[in-house]
Amino acid sequence: MNFTKRTKTCGELNITGKGEYITLNGWVTKIRDLGGLLFIDLRDRYGLTQLKINPENKSIYETAMTLGNEYVISASGTVIERESKNMNIPTGEIEIDVDKLEILNKSDVPPFNIEEEVKASEELRLQYRYMDLRRKTMLKNIILRNEVYHIVHNYFKDLEFVEVETPVLMKSTPEGARDFLVPSRIHKGKFYALPQSPQTYKQILMIAGLDRYVQICKCFRDEDLRADRQPEFTQIDVEMSFIKQDDVFDISEGLFKRIWKEIKNIDIITPFRKLTYDDAILLYGTDKPDLRIEKISEIHLITEIVKDSEFKVFQDAVKKNGIIAAIKLDRIIDNKNKKIEITRKITDNLTEYVKQLGFGGIGYMKIGVNGEVSSPIAKYLSQENITELLGEFNAEEGDTIFILSGEYMKVQTALGNLRNKIAADFNLINESRYEFLWITDFPLFKYNEETGGFEGEHHVFTIPRNEHLKYLDSSNRNEIESIRAICYDLVLNGNEIGSGSIRIHIPEIQNKVFKIIGLTDEEAKSKFGFLLNAFKYGAPPHGGVAFGFDRIVAVLCGVKSIREVIAFPKTVSASSLMDDSPDIVEEKQLKELGIKLEKK
Ligand code: ASP
Repeated sequence: MNFTKRTKTCGELNITGKGEYITLNGWVTKIRDLGGLLFIDLRDRYGLTQLKINPENKSIYETAMTLGNEYVISASGTVIERESKNMNIPTGEIEIDVDKLEILNKSDVPPFNIEEEVKASEELRLQYRYMDLRRKTMLKNIILRNEVYHIVHNYFKDLEFVEVETPVLMKSTPEGARDFLVPSRIHKGKFYALPQSPQTYKQILMIAGLDRYVQICKCFRDEDLRADRQPEFTQIDVEMSFIKQDDVFDISEGLFKRIWKEIKNIDIITPFRKLTYDDAILLYGTDKPDLRIEKISEIHLITEIVKDSEFKVFQDAVKKNGIIAAIKLDRIIDNKNKKIEITRKITDNLTEYVKQLGFGGIGYMKIGVNGEVSSPIAKYLSQENITELLGEFNAEEGDTIFILSGEYMKVQTALGNLRNKIAADFNLINESRYEFLWITDFPLFKYNEETGGFEGEHHVFTIPRNEHLKYLDSSNRNEIESIRAICYDLVLNGNEIGSGSIRIHIPEIQNKVFKIIGLTDEEAKSKFGFLLNAFKYGAPPHGGVAFGFDRIVAVLCGVKSIREVIAFPKTVSASSLMDDSPDIVEEKQLKELGIKLEKK
C-alpha cells in the first residue's frame, strides 16, 4: 500500500520543532469541531499530538469530516505553536497545521472508548483485547513487563547463567497440579503433557553440568477456577549446582534489588527477613504473611493464661488438645483524627465471618480506661487472668483483643485470615511498603485426609533436612509429618511470588520419598524412570527456585490482578474471550488423533 510514512512519532514533538514539516501516522483518538476548525488528537504508542484542520483547505477538511474514532491516518503538515497549550502532555505546546491527510484504514465504532477510566466490563475488554491494549495504562504495563524481562536476562547473564529452552511437549510427570494433555497423532493413544514447570529438565541440566540455568518460561497447570490464577503463566526458572540454600537467597535477593532499583528507583533492603514455616503459622496463621499490616499484633497463644476459666468453649478446646489464641487490634484513629469505635456492628460482622470458618463465634475484649474491659467473656475470667492477658499484649485503652479457640491449625489459619480481613476493612495495610520475606523449612509431606495418603508439600524432588532423613524410613504419621524440607517460598506483600528447594540428588533418598507418597517401584519407574536413571550418572548437589513473573510485574505496576499485565490472559473460568478458546475441533482432527468424544 502506498502511504506517506511517518517522519516522527506522536510523542516526540515539542516547541523546539516549531516550523518543521513532518508526517505522523496513528489512530484518531478524539475529534473536536470548534465552529469550523477541526482538532484531531492523533495517538500512537509514543503519545498524542494535536492536528489542526482548516476548513479553507477544502479537500482535507472533507476527508477529515468523514473520520471516526480509531481510524488509522497519515497526516503531514507544519509544526506550529498552539494557542491554548496543554502543559499536561509533552506535545502540549504544539499542533500540526495539516496540509495532507490520508485515511489508511477505517474503524468500526469502537466497543468502548479508548480512555484511562475505562467503563467497559472486563469481559468486553478481554473480547476486544487489541482495543484494550491501546489504552495508555495497559500499554504501560506491557512495556514495564518488557523492561523486567531485560533486567532479568541481563542480571543472570552477568552471573554466567545459561538460558536453555526446555520442551513444551513433555512426559506427564506429576508436580502437584493436574497436567494439560496433548494427544499425539503419530503415537495414537499416547499423550504429551504441557510442563507444570521445567522442574525435571532443569534438574537434568544440572546433571548435564550446565551449573547455572535460567529461563523465563511458560508453565501450564490445569487447576480449578481460582481468582487471579491463570492456566498458563510465566515463571523465572532458576537452577544451580554445588550450592546451599543461602546461595539461592543471595542470587534471588540480588535480582529483586536490581529490578526494584531499575524500575522504581527504590533500594530494597537485603538480606530479606526469614521465618520458618512453623513460626509463620505460629505468628501469622499463614505461610504468606503480609508484613505491611500495621496496628494488628501477631498471634499470641493464650491457652496457659485462660485455660482454667469457666468459659465452656475454652474448656472444650483444652479438653480436645486444642488451643486458645488471640490477636490485638490497636486503637485506631481515622484520618480526621477520630478514634474508630469497635461497635457492635463490627463485632457482629466478625462473628459472622468466623462462623463461616467453622467457629461458634469470636471472643473479644475491648480495653477501656484503667485496664477496665468490656467483653462478653470477661465474666468467666478472673481479674488475674484478665490482667495477665492485657500484659501479654501490652494492651492499652482503646485496644481490642479477639480470641478464638479450637484445633491448632484451624485457629491459627482463622486468626491469620482475620488479620487480613481487619487490615483490609480498616485500611491498615501500608501500601507504600514492599515487604519481602523468605519462608523456610516447609513440611516435606502433607497428609491427604481424603485419600489417606501423603503428598509432597512442594514437589517430590525436595530434600529433607539432614536431621529428619531418618524419618523417611518411618511409617508413623506424626514422624512423617514432622519432616521438614530445605524448601522455601518468597513472599512479597502477602503474595507468594516464588518457591524452590534444594533437591534430592541421591537415588536412594528419592526412592524413599516416592514410597511415602505411595508410588510403587513400577510406578516410580514409569513416571520418573528417566530422572532416576539420570541420577545414577553423577548428579551434583543442586537446588533452585522459580518466581512468578506475572505477579512480580503486577506488584511493580501497582495492579491487583495479573490479568492486567498479561497481553492475552484467560478469564477466571480459563477461557479466552477474544479467540474463543477452548473450542470444539473438527471431527476429522479427532479421528486423526484416534479420539472419540463421549456423547453429552
Ligand atoms: N518447579 C517449582 C515450581 O514451579 C519451583 C522450584 O522448585 O524451583 O513451583
